[in-house]
Amino acid sequence: MSKVLIIEDEVAIADLEKDYLELSGFEVETENDGMVGLKRALSEDFDMYILDLMLPGIDGFEICRQIREEKNTPILMVSAKKDDIDKIRGLGLGADDYITKPFSPSELVARVKAHLARYERLIGSNMMENDIIEIRGIRIDKTARRVWVNGEEKQFTTKEFDLLTFLAEHPNHVFTKEELFREIWDMESIGDIATVTVHIKKIREKIEMNTNKPQYIETIWGVGYRFKL
Ligand code: CA
Repeated sequence: MSKVLIIEDEVAIADLEKDYLELSGFEVETENDGMVGLKRALSEDFDMYILDLMLPGIDGFEICRQIREEKNTPILMVSAKKDDIDKIRGLGLGADDYITKPFSPSELVARVKAHLARYERLIGSNMMENDIIEIRGIRIDKTARRVWVNGEEKQFTTKEFDLLTFLAEHPNHVFTKEELFREIWDMESIGDIATVTVHIKKIREKIEMNTNKPQYIETIWGVGYRFKL
């Protein structure tokens, strides 16, 4: 659930905003004091801030500026004067949006939803970067489950891919066939450790220049295999 912090000295307005946002499924905290609000904004995790501009002690401009120094969280500024909007823009404080009083609660909710959706997409797209392993000419895209050997894409079965990836993620670590079987095949599966040998052979045919002299997956006689770094 998205968490919103409202910093607003007029308790009735803060409560109205809170009620409408809570009805829309948000978790909402309110602070009526600017300094306390700023402290919470900086020390706690919120998904969005709604800042009143005119507050006793410290104004919304300053709170916005200080939040922006630390966080990219969306900020919606609330002002009683239309003129303030130009000022917010002019100061380049990094507010994402502004709304003037009086506003309809549904408009406030719509704007909060829009900003949160956009922010989540932004965060999501940053986290969507593929997880890549690269070792001496071998490139494994764990997210897309694709493998390239010296720039050429090779096809792997699910278990071959899992086994190669597991070994490549633990380079120079020697694993016994039993360990690899347990790791890649679930305990219920029919098969035995010879399966591991067969799969290593298949993988080598795809990644090694010379399968008799493997450069990547090395056999440690009497023990098992390791991916050489
Ligand atoms: Ca105020």
